[in-house]
Amino acid sequence: MSDEDRDTKKTTFFSKNPIMCPVCDTSFYKEDLLSGGGRLIAGELTEELHRTYEPSKKFGELYPLVYAVLVCPSCYYAVYPQDFHEVKEEFIERLKEETDKRVQSVSLVFKDLDFTNYRGLKEGAAGYFLAIMCYDLLDRHYSPTFKRALSALRAAWLLDSLHRKAFGENYDYLSRLFYRKARFFYIQSVEMAQNGQEPLEAKVNFGPDLDKNYGYDGLLYITGLLEYRYGPRQDKERRLKSLENAKRIVSKLFGTGKASKNKPSAILDKARELYDEMNNEIRQLQEQG
Ligand SMILES: [Zn+2]
Repeated sequence: MSDEDRDTKKTTFFSKNPIMCPVCDTSFYKEDLLSGGGRLIAGELTEELHRTYEPSKKFGELYPLVYAVLVCPSCYYAVYPQDFHEVKEEFIERLKEETDKRVQSVSLVFKDLDFTNYRGLKEGAAGYFLAIMCYDLLDRHYSPTFKRALSALRAAWLLDSLHRKAFGENYDYLSRLFYRKARFFYIQSVEMAQNGQEPLEAKVNFGPDLDKNYGYDGLLYITGLLEYRYGPRQDKERRLKSLENAKRIVSKLFGTGKASKNKPSAILDKARELYDEMNNEIRQLQEQG
């Protein structure tokens, strides 16, 4: 895109004030989406509660998720904006020590990354990849298991979009890899929230997308859905066990009459459908004897 096009079809802007990276002291500017003026035209909400957007004639395709992780272009320290300056000294040291590892790992998966300029889908997906690595070093006060789950799911979505633009680049393979990662972290996050190892505070934005926070119900539903779609299938026994577990998690969402009245119907309907699908598969597996 030429500079002139950039001006008239502007879709993002860089922060006025520089941001200082607490890990390597580099100053940089954060890119954000301009969402007004008909730039974002909401499309379908997928089964995974992912909000898609219709391309606009003037501005083309936009992917708000690309900008949600704050990434230092120099040391690749990457977390959600609310955590960026809140990381304690002891973790800063660990993040510093792991810089080379971070830079090497991400460049094995994504070629020619550039976080100093306008981001593309590739930088968006890579940002979540880096966030997964960074949250791995933080303690439970940062809800790292849930944030790795969320980041893996969003990376899978962006990689899926990339695949549709660039067939044959293995982005579909990578997307599946991140879906499986998401399934692993989502189930771990629910278990750790339930046994108190990593409580999820009210301030956590559960997403899973940026347009709406579906809260803890959303977490339960997505966990069940990912287990259903990406859980173990090597043999019947394991599949049955995983489906029963997914059913148990999703059923927590229904509650009793009064409690479910306040829940958005979008998620209740989707959860009921999922519950029925899992029941059907369980019955079929059992009938096979
Ligand atoms: Zn840095």
